[in-house]
Amino acid sequence: MRLGLSSLAIIALMGAGSASAQNTTAAVAPIIDVHMHAMAEAPWATPVCPNQARFEASDPKNGPEAPFGWSSEECSPKLYPAPKGEYMKAVLAEMERLNVRGVVFGDVEAVKTWQAAAPARVIPGTAFGRVEGGDPANQLKMLEVAFTKEGFKVMGEIGLQYEGISPSDMRVDQYFALAEKLDIPVAIHMGTGGSGRANIAMPTYRGSMGNPLLLEELLARHPKLRVQVMHAGYPMIDNMLTLLQANSHVYVDIAGLIWSYPRKDVNRYIERLVDAGFGDRVLYGTDQLAWPGLMAYSIGLIQNADYLSPEQKRDILYNNAARFLRLEPAK
Ligand SMILES: [Zn+2]
Repeated sequence: MRLGLSSLAIIALMGAGSASAQNTTAAVAPIIDVHMHAMAEAPWATPVCPNQARFEASDPKNGPEAPFGWSSEECSPKLYPAPKGEYMKAVLAEMERLNVRGVVFGDVEAVKTWQAAAPARVIPGTAFGRVEGGDPANQLKMLEVAFTKEGFKVMGEIGLQYEGISPSDMRVDQYFALAEKLDIPVAIHMGTGGSGRANIAMPTYRGSMGNPLLLEELLARHPKLRVQVMHAGYPMIDNMLTLLQANSHVYVDIAGLIWSYPRKDVNRYIERLVDAGFGDRVLYGTDQLAWPGLMAYSIGLIQNADYLSPEQKRDILYNNAARFLRLEPAK
């Protein structure tokens, strides 16, 4: 079986019966997922095998021109999309079963729907939209209301890389200035994207705009800004470590990366972050967006990591995020 030995423990996590959820939740150590999305449905989603081992080349004439380029090895169990109309309910039930609180990003109204369904589980986050063709005055006003009156806690997911824009670009400086003034952490997409993202799926996407060092000028202008580098700048580990050394207010999340890249390299990347001394700035996350089983699966990857001590696992799964988000420490 492609998933290997450690998948036994993952299957145990995935297969636990929901009937006992109410009884077991209190006994399960708390977890924070710092990177979720307030989707209602994911009609595009198909069953997937996480951590595919390869990306496939394509030929502009003969294909196959797949938008992410993952190879398609079989696995068991696959991750399955929720039945129609059941997505939010299924994810929130998983959060209850696994004792997870999550930072849920999206439009203000979509996030509020999730929050109303599970106020104790959802930490709300929202961000400005596209820069090209956007309305900055309106966006700024919306953010100010969200963070000062509606209880939103994180500015994210900021997707500048998809537009080929650097986080230090002056066109977005006013948003970051607001976050610094209001003492709200920001979460910026940097890295990942699969294979063929720019030439097939999204012509404005730039791999180079995921370079963590592009944050340096922004951080020089806003020294108090707290930053979550989403996807940990993968795969630019040296630049990521350089930024972590230069700026102690910077954290990384391992969302997306944790289940969508080859497992050996994912583990090596996380291990490198921890071995370089930044174990207290690595945040667990999923990028949860279609498959309710993704949460248990990716928790399993951390819990089965033989290169992490029990303390380091707890830091990644809870303590670091609690500190970054200024929540109460775990009992
Ligand atoms: Zn992202």
